[in-house]
Amino acid sequence: MAAAPLPADELARLATLRKYDVLDTPPEQAFDDAVKLASVICGTPIALVTLIDESRQWFKAKIGLDGTETERDHAFCAHAILEPQHVMVVPDATQDPRFVDNPYVTGDPEVRFYAGAPLVSPSGHAMGTLCVIDSAPRAMADDKRDALAAIARTVSAQLELRRVSHELSVANDHLRTLSFIDPLTGVANRRALDARLNEEIARAARHDAPLSLLMFDIDHFKSYNDEFGHVLGDDVLLCFAELLRMDIRQTDLVARFGGEEFVVLLPETTEEGARMLAERYRARVESTNFPGKKITTSIGLAVWQPRFEQPEQFIDAADQALYAAKRAGRNRVEVAQEFHPGH
Ligand code: GH3
Ligand code: MG
Ligand code: MG
Repeated sequence: MAAAPLPADELARLATLRKYDVLDTPPEQAFDDAVKLASVICGTPIALVTLIDESRQWFKAKIGLDGTETERDHAFCAHAILEPQHVMVVPDATQDPRFVDNPYVTGDPEVRFYAGAPLVSPSGHAMGTLCVIDSAPRAMADDKRDALAAIARTVSAQLELRRVSHELSVANDHLRTLSFIDPLTGVANRRALDARLNEEIARAARHDAPLSLLMFDIDHFKSYNDEFGHVLGDDVLLCFAELLRMDIRQTDLVARFGGEEFVVLLPETTEEGARMLAERYRARVESTNFPGKKITTSIGLAVWQPRFEQPEQFIDAADQALYAAKRAGRNRVEVAQEFHPGH
């Protein structure tokens, strides 16, 4: 028995099949429908959507056959894909030198009749076939052969649709991630902070729960850059963000507010709790060996007040506390004073 020769476009064909990312995926209605149609129209007990991988043929959909794959060497479809534009018809496999000693002819399911219409990518590569099989020899009328080819084209289109929609959803996820993450430090960016802030304020108002916000600004960071350069400065920002991320709760949010300013949003946290945490952060920054030299940070703390009219006022309150910490000598935590609208 001769295994089918490899198609001339084999490498490109395999690469294209890989892009469809369909091998070993669960059954899908559209492909099940196609084999149902093919088997009814052609009047055969067996119909398959098969894809020819490097060494096996795998069934995306099947009727009348057990198993999910066979060796490529025994696959009729490996012959059918050699001519992407033609339906391969084998009226009686026992009369065909290519298949006479094929184990699927000499043994179960005793294939006699086979017709396979290649599934062709837009680039012209045949990935597999829509095929029908019978254990009795038979001829195939032209209109049946054309119908099989027509269903094969809709299967190819369905594969393409599946691939494009999968690609789009991956790209979308990627974009969404990028647009909410600060590329330098990997923590949330300002946009993500704004979104979470709105959610957390609504939640705090609904449950009358405390919500605290810490605003960090690295002390004298300009002179750090002047002394060690921006590249090492970027490393410090990365380490600083990592330090803020250490042992925070799942519900807390660390965000880069801008430049060398960071925010930690603390749901369900009172002023007392937030002050202890801020002090712990301050001490940890002071004692950490950052690249280049030691640094310190000033921290402003604000607790959400129902009379804040906008989320920005919450941020402003923390910012004012931060500047109070700077004025008071840096490397310290200050708590926002009573909020006075307009001041
Ligand atoms: P202060 O204690 O008052 O905060 O002093 P400062 O020098 O930190 O304050 P200032 O706001 O004047 O300067 C912030 C500096 O942070 C300016 C800039 O050199 C540095 N910086 C901002 N963003 C980045 C960044 O992405 N990478 C690096 N390496 N430096 C940054
Ligand atoms: Mg600053
Ligand atoms: Mg600074």
